[in-house]
Amino acid sequence: MPGPPAAAPLPGPDPVPSRHHGHAGDGGPDPAPAGPIVRLRGVSVTLGQFQALRGVSAKVPLGSQTVIIGPNGAGKSTLVQTILGLIPFQGEISFLPRRPRFGYVPQRLDFDRHMPLTVTEFLALGLTTRPLWLGVSRRVRRMALGGLEEVMAADLAGKPLGALSGGESQRVLLAAALMSRPEVLVLDEPATGVDINGEQLMCELLDGFKKDYTIIMVSHDLPTAKAHGDWVICLNRRVVAQGPPDKVFTPKILAATFGLHQGHDLWPPRVG
Ligand code: ADP
Ligand code: MG
Repeated sequence: MPGPPAAAPLPGPDPVPSRHHGHAGDGGPDPAPAGPIVRLRGVSVTLGQFQALRGVSAKVPLGSQTVIIGPNGAGKSTLVQTILGLIPFQGEISFLPRRPRFGYVPQRLDFDRHMPLTVTEFLALGLTTRPLWLGVSRRVRRMALGGLEEVMAADLAGKPLGALSGGESQRVLLAAALMSRPEVLVLDEPATGVDINGEQLMCELLDGFKKDYTIIMVSHDLPTAKAHGDWVICLNRRVVAQGPPDKVFTPKILAATFGLHQGHDLWPPRVG
């Protein structure tokens, strides 16, 4: 399905109180985790004639690294876009304590590769209303560079957008998402179509971000989910299971999510 415009500003509150929302910060023991930051009840989505999501009830706990896992066509991208408010749905989606500000890294950057835009100019589009033909101001150029530094991509600043590899464009999209000062980072298949170095770098970046953000990550890959998730939603148009990884990564649940054999073949290793 065609993605929404990359790094488009998404509806959200203002201002952001703190990245570490939900903690008492009084030096005492950590309070019990607050309720989920996102809760879905009976969410269904129909795309044309096709029911992409059927009665999805799930939660994204505050401060979690939630992984939405399922096979191709399971409705994972549809689900995150529905949470982001980009797709009409039936059912209920609620946010606690209020709608957070989202930063969204779409599955791919849909754009004309011949568009004569550098990475800095692309990031500037989200940072200023000044028309690009007036040039990028020094202030915005500095902000863009700061954003690129956060994702170890300062060297890409002057590159044409169309010349980026899969991993490089993912990092530029991540920089754009971070620049909107999100509370919840949503990443759709951040390691797909990326070479092994790019994947490793993305993994390191995500590990670094997990203390600062609630993360919702889409993946069809079990090792990625296992490495990064502390809350897993198994999706195949409906929710097959959700919970901490050790509870949901069972052969039975994986078979129900991915199809009869794959659960046994992929994870965990077959025993007996
Ligand atoms: P995933 O991200 O899990 O691979 P998607 O959310 O992209 O799955 O898509 C779910 C299903 O919806 C797929 O079978 C896809 O073909 C279908 N689909 C996506 N967009 C449309 C659309 N605009 N009209 C009809 N069907 C669509
Ligand atoms: Mg997808």
